[in-house]
Amino acid sequence: MNHFHYQNGELFAEDVAIARIAREVGTPFYCYSTATLQRHYTVFAEALKAAGLDATICFAAKANPNMAVIRTFAQLGAGADVVSEGELRQALAAGVPAARIVFSGVGKTRHELEFAVAKGIFQINVESEPELEMLSEIAAARGQVMPIAIRVNPDVDAGTHAKITTGKKENKFGIEWTRAREVYARAKALPGVEPVAIACHIGSQLTELTPFREAFLRVRDLVAMLRADGIDIRRLDLGGGLGVPYDDETPPEPAAYAEVIKATLGDLGCRFVFEPGRLLVGNAGILVSRIIRVKEGSTRTFLIVDAAMNDLARPSLYDAYHSIFPVAEPKAGAALAEVDVVGPVCETGDTFAKQRRLPPMRTDDLLAFGTAGAYGAAMSSTYNTRPLIPEVLVKGGDYAVIRVRPSYEDMRSLESLPGWLNDE
Ligand SMILES: *Cc1c(COP(=O)(O)O)cnc(C)c1O
Repeated sequence: MNHFHYQNGELFAEDVAIARIAREVGTPFYCYSTATLQRHYTVFAEALKAAGLDATICFAAKANPNMAVIRTFAQLGAGADVVSEGELRQALAAGVPAARIVFSGVGKTRHELEFAVAKGIFQINVESEPELEMLSEIAAARGQVMPIAIRVNPDVDAGTHAKITTGKKENKFGIEWTRAREVYARAKALPGVEPVAIACHIGSQLTELTPFREAFLRVRDLVAMLRADGIDIRRLDLGGGLGVPYDDETPPEPAAYAEVIKATLGDLGCRFVFEPGRLLVGNAGILVSRIIRVKEGSTRTFLIVDAAMNDLARPSLYDAYHSIFPVAEPKAGAALAEVDVVGPVCETGDTFAKQRRLPPMRTDDLLAFGTAGAYGAAMSSTYNTRPLIPEVLVKGGDYAVIRVRPSYEDMRSLESLPGWLNDE
């Protein structure tokens, strides 16, 4: 469910015509809908509440770290799950209280841990023993005690794309399930850290509940063992990972997900933390691009658009599917033809779709890429010296540019020529 729809023959985001934004901001750009962001958060929060789960929802900022997006959720009561100092700073700047920030990630540096401890965030999710020892030393030296979770790797197959599965023992994430008890015992003995939670995140874009159920049952066993060892587990951080429809997949509804949690973990007297990313932002964003040229090959027609793999990396990185549709509503019964939709970057991988069925399109027509709100702008780069593209947030009949397109001078401003190349 989202708020991008045709109205009077053209695509709107809520009450704003996409063609108008394209005229005023230029293409390509990302466009997000406030009503959709709010709706996704609310549906998720209400599903947890209906299942009787006492939960803090920490938006996984890496899916869309724009401050305006984080703040939209913060105003609804969300916290943030961050994976770097940059995201931690971004969340704080967006108005998320430190008391609602969780810090995840397999390679937090000493400096990042010091920063997080100094800010007194809600919880640090520790992913290895050396990290545990370092965090203990940092917090103890400051006379603080940090509430921590140990991220356990439950060794279940999330059944998702190999590059976004994280819960198998051969993945780099977390502490192997079989060693968790030992590591908790060590954490209990160390100063500066208090193990209060178990964290578990098995992958992204999950479209089945079974892997979640398997992982949660392992977490359940672990709670019992740790409590028997005298460790007071009070919270369970169940990560993110719930999928969204890109094409014809039908991911579980939040209510069904909440029921699985209630059934597997609901009777343990724990509070819950969730770290949804894609679920909250995926369908709340589109990428809008203009057709630069229509190129007829001998066997294929190519629509060359002004967005490229540096703007939306998912198709080239994960062979991901994005819906593609014209901004001008096609006439009913318009003939469809198979085309390849490609960007201008000098890589064959810069292909958004092959043999996609689209109505007739011409130079300068606008196209929208659906479900681009998650891991879209967040993963963009300046490859081919292409400026990062603007992000626009719509609310009702208003829109605002929430990240501007940098000028070429802005892009060059961080570079300089060393003296020996400066021949002036
Ligand atoms: C990426 C990530 C998330 C968010 O995953 P989604 O699939 O976007 O919900 C949550 N927690 C951790 C630890 C992550 O690495």
